[in-house]
Amino acid sequence: MPKYEAVIGLETHIQLNTKSKIFCGCKADSWGDPPNTNICPVCTGLPGVLPVLNRVVVEKAVLLAAAMHADSIQSLSYFARKNYFYPDLPKGYQISQYDEPLARDGTFNLPMPDGSSRQVKITKLHIEEDAGKTVYQSGSRLIDFNRCGVPLVEMVTDPDLRSADEAAQYLIRLRQLLRWLGISEGDMEKGQLRCDANVSIRPAGSEVLNTKTEIKNVNSIENVRTAIQVEIERQIREVEAGGIIESWTLNWDDDSGTLRKMRVKETEADYRYFREPDLLPIRLGEAWRDDILANLPELPLERRVRFVDQYGLPLYDAEILTEERSLSEYFEQAVSTYSGEPKVVSNWLMNDVLRMIRELGVKAGELRLQPAHLVEIIHLVEGKRITTNTGKALLDRVEESGRSPAEIVEEEGLAQVSDEDTLRALVSETLEKNPEQVATYQAGKTTVIGWFVGQVMRETRGKANPQVVQAILEELLSDR
Ligand SMILES: [Zn+2]
Repeated sequence: MPKYEAVIGLETHIQLNTKSKIFCGCKADSWGDPPNTNICPVCTGLPGVLPVLNRVVVEKAVLLAAAMHADSIQSLSYFARKNYFYPDLPKGYQISQYDEPLARDGTFNLPMPDGSSRQVKITKLHIEEDAGKTVYQSGSRLIDFNRCGVPLVEMVTDPDLRSADEAAQYLIRLRQLLRWLGISEGDMEKGQLRCDANVSIRPAGSEVLNTKTEIKNVNSIENVRTAIQVEIERQIREVEAGGIIESWTLNWDDDSGTLRKMRVKETEADYRYFREPDLLPIRLGEAWRDDILANLPELPLERRVRFVDQYGLPLYDAEILTEERSLSEYFEQAVSTYSGEPKVVSNWLMNDVLRMIRELGVKAGELRLQPAHLVEIIHLVEGKRITTNTGKALLDRVEESGRSPAEIVEEEGLAQVSDEDTLRALVSETLEKNPEQVATYQAGKTTVIGWFVGQVMRETRGKANPQVVQAILEELLSDR
């Protein structure tokens, strides 16, 4: 048993994918836009302006809170001013929530790769505005205000995670959920999902909470894993050497892959929070709340369990098919029109359609190859109208052209050749042309029959029925 265990809590900031910003009408998504082009007096904090809350921000945040099984989504929550000075924060304060956040006490069921699961408590979830961005360029600081006022959800966990791997798993599952709910792409490289980690260690099995350090500015899930691991090991070394852990803030340095000490962490009092006087509280009435929750879909883990129960899929299949929401819907649509075992559809999806999805870099729901097309192809193969190979090639042809599989088979003469006379003639011809391989066969090396099947398949451009070819080959070779 290891001597120490890690105690990790995560604070994540999630950029919501609304059209406009949280308190003004400026475009929220500035990715790729020139600096300072999506700004107005409100989001740059000019005197005399008033913020107006974007309703959709509340709706997306409530959806996330509900997906976290947050018992207490508040019917009344308040905005607060978080006062601090930073060059890319033009107002000198950030509008956030503090003592009365949107939701508290959620639970995130975190499935672990080994099949176990861990319940991570979500302490609180609140909404706030993003700050601008400072760009360091040849010794100067350049400020881009485009990001000012982009809506964020901040979500804080209890210190429930016990290893760097669990922290990474949390982020992977959170990103999956954000995409599933359609509220954010959760791309860490683009800053749509940001993560600060609080890390401490203690003797394994102990309940104490020791002094923690905070890791900031990590820009990928992999780096979060590495940074936490590095920090756990540093703390263990420090404690073993008789030292003490101080409450540092550590900055991840991407270039060197190391953590650097920043400054002694501010206490919350430094922010001088007070209620935001320019905004009314968020009043989430029952009717509005019910409207929002009507859009809460079945969640990935629930769907995974259902796929196993309802369709008899192996857990492995169910896991892959529920990785992305439109893929799981694609599967169900296909199964609903297919008469055979759901596992057959799952195989085609996991082996061939997923390859296509990855190559094209799209989601299942964006394919031109519709679930009905896929089922049609499976039926053509099962009805022996086309070979499996032709079926697989057809997937790409349908995707490229958007035409129906039957149409393509008809027009391009792809139908499988099962006609015995035609194939018999072809097999005879192949045997005549290759006396050497025939001799090999007659010398007892019967595996050469596979080579002959290959020749005939090539001759027919993959359209020959391989079982029929094999049977004719066996017959003709033994007659010689
Ligand atoms: Zn604006």
